[in-house]
Amino acid sequence: MNSGTGIYFDGTTSARLSVTVDLGPSALRILAADGRLLAEWPYAGLESQSAPDNILRLGLRENKVLARLEIIDPQFATEIDARADSIDRSGAMDRRKRANVIGWSVAATISLLLVAYFGVPALAGRLAPLVPRVIENKLGAAVDAQVRSTLDTRKAGAAFECGNADSERPGRAAINKIIRRLETAAALPAPLLPAVVRRREANAIALPGAHIYVYQGLIDKAESADELAAVIAHEIGHIAHRDGTKSVLQAAGLSFLFGMMLGDFVGGGAVVVAAKTVMQSSYARDVEASADAYGVALMNKAGANGRALGTILTRIGGATEPGMKILMDHPETKARVAAINAITPPRTVTPFLDAAEWAALKKICG
Ligand SMILES: [Zn+2]
Repeated sequence: MNSGTGIYFDGTTSARLSVTVDLGPSALRILAADGRLLAEWPYAGLESQSAPDNILRLGLRENKVLARLEIIDPQFATEIDARADSIDRSGAMDRRKRANVIGWSVAATISLLLVAYFGVPALAGRLAPLVPRVIENKLGAAVDAQVRSTLDTRKAGAAFECGNADSERPGRAAINKIIRRLETAAALPAPLLPAVVRRREANAIALPGAHIYVYQGLIDKAESADELAAVIAHEIGHIAHRDGTKSVLQAAGLSFLFGMMLGDFVGGGAVVVAAKTVMQSSYARDVEASADAYGVALMNKAGANGRALGTILTRIGGATEPGMKILMDHPETKARVAAINAITPPRTVTPFLDAAEWAALKKICG
């Protein structure tokens, strides 16, 4: 089979062209319906891009133009596959990453144009899911450094984080046990990066890139490991929904987009704005409610007591993260706790820690 059909996108217009594909000795030729030669791609330069299972999607490596060719006929796809060693079907992850980065560059450019028309807030929610993990992790690392230096008012440095001294190690093992159990149930795409920090407030925050800060004050106020786990589960909800990234996009807007395009957030205004946003952000009620629902569902999935979130919310109230304060101040709080209880039928649950582990965790900050 030396010839077949395909769909060709030229990378500059959105036109979807039905084409004939001729397989030459060293290159494939893409011909328009009228026989015009649209492109000639050497087999050695081909790369397959992420696509649904039944489609072979090809591009040309190092091609400045994002042209692509889609082959639907499986037999013809096999013919091409056999000629091109460079199509590495096992490298699915790499391909996807590359496609993501290319996709993001396009998205960033388009978003700059859209921002001019619609403004940033409306776009943030739509764009956040498009931010590739690798870039979100970079942002997270930069925001993490900024948040740390802001919260660490006594300049304790490494000692700002609890759980590193010998006497604090059992506490760290205990919180890790909680984190691992939630993480397993959540099946997130990337591991969580938790830290317990020496701050008096009863608070917990989630940063872009899966960083979670649990404040010492929250551990002091929690009356059980399940209560603490419930708040962490709520924060995992913010991470799963990428709320931090959304709010950073909203608050830092263009400087974030520029930082992203340059691949460097450090030194950019975006990080300072981002750190402030994450620390002070008072998410909208619906965002909090859905992080709540996520957290409760996650607790239930982990075989733990989902009602623990309602318990600690009711007791700590406004002292916890600002978003929770909004929820607690709202007259519908009781209804909300009732909603938490409604999706958590009474049943046998397994506590996160035994009494000794919980006692150790209480002393994680010395
Ligand atoms: Zn929240």
